[in-house]
Amino acid sequence: MTVSKKNGKVYNPLESMMSRFEIAAKKIQLDPSIYQVLINPARIVTANLPIQMDDGTVKVFEGHRVQHSQTLGPSKGGIRYSMSVTLDEVKALAAWMTWKCAVVGMPFGGGKGGIKCDPRTMSKGELERLTRSYAAAMSDVIGPDKDIPAPDMNTGPQEMAWIVDEYSKIKGAFTPAVITGKPLTMGGSAGRVEATGRGVMVSCRSAMSKLGMNPQESTCVVQGFGNVGSISAKLIEMLGVTIIGISDISGGYYNKKGIDIEKAIKFKERNNGTLEGFKDGRKISNDKLLELETDILVPAAMEDQITRNNADKIKAKLIVEGANGPTSSDADDILDKKGIYVVPDILANAGGVTVSYFEWVQNRLGYHWTEERVNRRADRVMKQAFNEVYAAAQKHRCNWRIASYIVAIKKVADTQKLRGVYG
Ligand code: NAD
Repeated sequence: MTVSKKNGKVYNPLESMMSRFEIAAKKIQLDPSIYQVLINPARIVTANLPIQMDDGTVKVFEGHRVQHSQTLGPSKGGIRYSMSVTLDEVKALAAWMTWKCAVVGMPFGGGKGGIKCDPRTMSKGELERLTRSYAAAMSDVIGPDKDIPAPDMNTGPQEMAWIVDEYSKIKGAFTPAVITGKPLTMGGSAGRVEATGRGVMVSCRSAMSKLGMNPQESTCVVQGFGNVGSISAKLIEMLGVTIIGISDISGGYYNKKGIDIEKAIKFKERNNGTLEGFKDGRKISNDKLLELETDILVPAAMEDQITRNNADKIKAKLIVEGANGPTSSDADDILDKKGIYVVPDILANAGGVTVSYFEWVQNRLGYHWTEERVNRRADRVMKQAFNEVYAAAQKHRCNWRIASYIVAIKKVADTQKLRGVYG
């Protein structure tokens, strides 16, 4: 994960996550021995992967798989390809997955994998050999009942297909449930592409209902117009909310009468995937976009967008975090004092991991669900999770973010106590 620098301060979203974990752990007076278990990953595997490059030379790549927790079930979490991959980062991201799976009640622990490489400089053949070599090296630690990887930064359905193929060859049996985020023809799930944005919409709808906000009279600004941002914008618009601002890397676009999201998506598709040149809104900076007069703000681009430097200027009543880590922990108190409600990332964007769970379930059943069934079940999971967090916030008198961590930590800690440790 990138460490961003704003006004001289270095932000690290993983430290932000840990500081919230600490607050929640204190609030529930987490048993110190369970605390020790939860701050350490259960298992770390590092493999050196020698690959023949297209020019005939051999390069050795470092790959990791970290299983932070398997208390609630097999660990689950993506594999990323990036030069910034370090073991520390993978360890922290694996812990993040433990809380995300637990808060929505998935029977999974947290895991994460990564290979330090620059996929942009590699050919498809080199990437395939690297991916297959990683799958072979990890074949004893991953598996449908052990640890189920998925795509993350710079990996997608193609890499997942190679991993299923390699793993299945090694085990001598076709095993699609070893991984999620597969192509549809290899056991991927209907609804997976829209799942995260859909979960953001359901979280937003639940929060609006608790706060007595009428969708028809509400406005929303969405930062980021990729998979999560564009789909969240489309589905929140369908609730009757007016989307007055959208943005991507090219900048922000503001129209107080409302932006037609379907039109913006079509524009982006025709325009090489960017909003550059979009005329249905006045061009503004991404910083100004966050500070617009709006009822709802959905940061769905990247980490550390709301920090102590701009939190005071945020005018939204409700923030629904589509991205991972868009708010740094030093902004939390400022937002609380302003009375701004935040549906945190580990809850709001957990629709993706929920449908990944459904993909695994379908693979194990040997059956395909319709998109309608996937959506109905995922919506129910997200709604229940929100209600659970809301109740925890009332009980512990804390914001929804800390309540989400409380719900997640309690589930893992209570189960860990029942399972016990070596005595
Ligand atoms: P994506 O690459 O599809 O889209 C990212 C969008 O953000 C693009 O529109 C890009 O132009 C824009 N962007 C990048 N830098 C920006 C900036 N400085 N200001 C404004 N916009 C900027 O990525 P995605 O899959 O939509 O993921 C977005 C966020 O959601 C990430 O934090 C990701 O970790 C998180 N997330 C994604 C999923 C998923 O299923 N895709 C699940 C959970 C969390």
